[in-house]
Amino acid sequence: MENKKELRTWLDDLQLDHPLVIAGPCSAETEEQVLKIAHELKDTDVSYFRAGIWKPRTRPGMFEGVGALGLKWLQRVKAETGMKIATEVANAAHVKLALEHDVDLLWIGARSTVSPFIVQEIADALKGTDKVVLIKNPVNPDLALWLGAVERLATADIKKLGVIHRGFSTYEKTKYRNTPEWQLAIELQSKFPDLPIINDPSHITGKRDMIFDVSQKALDLNFDGLMIETHYDPENAWSDAAQQVTPSVLVQIMKDLKIRKETDEEAEYNNALNTLRANIDVIDNQIIELLGKRMNVVDGIGTLKRQKNVSILQSKRWNEILGAMVLEGQDHGLSEEFILKMFKAIHQESINHQEKIIKK
Ligand code: PEP
Ligand code: MN
Repeated sequence: MENKKELRTWLDDLQLDHPLVIAGPCSAETEEQVLKIAHELKDTDVSYFRAGIWKPRTRPGMFEGVGALGLKWLQRVKAETGMKIATEVANAAHVKLALEHDVDLLWIGARSTVSPFIVQEIADALKGTDKVVLIKNPVNPDLALWLGAVERLATADIKKLGVIHRGFSTYEKTKYRNTPEWQLAIELQSKFPDLPIINDPSHITGKRDMIFDVSQKALDLNFDGLMIETHYDPENAWSDAAQQVTPSVLVQIMKDLKIRKETDEEAEYNNALNTLRANIDVIDNQIIELLGKRMNVVDGIGTLKRQKNVSILQSKRWNEILGAMVLEGQDHGLSEEFILKMFKAIHQESINHQEKIIKK
């Protein structure tokens, strides 16, 4: 991508002394609802008012958005509050209508980013636009699809680009609606350091109580902004009711978040240090999660051994594992001494687990 620095001028031009905030309801429901929320968000840190007009529902038969009619409501929001307006586009027809209604920021949803055909169609329809275009991560944790979408939009000469990290769906149930997989966002950031990255804690958590913590984590990882679904009556929202917050809760969240600013050299140093530390926290959590998963498998083996009445310690198998791991460690710059120590500890914990099972 050429002129990478240009990618973030739209954000720098806003001259914010806080992260960019995009807020508004998941869906535009009625003209009254849209305007009421917008007026409550006026004179806050919110720069862009969001509302879904066309809603990509996973299953049919749910509220699928009010359609083009809602664009008129967004225009009223802009005229009455001065906030810029934002909506999701999922095909060329949406892009045409959104541009005709002077929508300032268009985003590509997670269900669209998975399809290079649809991303290309949207890129072609947007060609050369001076509007801001943000690309949500694809629903599945595939960095290449996300990068590919960024490249398609950049190639279509869209200068005001950015991405939104909204988490990834998993088969396994987790405490998140869409697991953050922070390392993917970090990797994308390192590939395109000048591409603004916005976090969407609403779709990551699916629960309003968890929004603050995910937002703080994103800021610690040096994200440029937040997109937070906001509704004056979240419980009765027509879509995503569990994750929306009221405008006053949003204001409180913004007040409570610790925001790091790059001003002088000292601040920049602290900033870089904090980002690296946040990366380490993410990785440490993954290590613990993986070790937990490993012990679950070990428990399964323990149960099998109990049924068959076999001994716990099987040194041949263990020596094979150690040998393989020492070699694997070499590929990752880890010393033999460290690998042996670490696996000894893991092995001991596995034996303890199996002993508990066998004695049961
Ligand atoms: C949304 O922002 O309302 C939305 C549908 O998000 P996503 O594409 O992340 O599911
Ligand atoms: Mn939503």
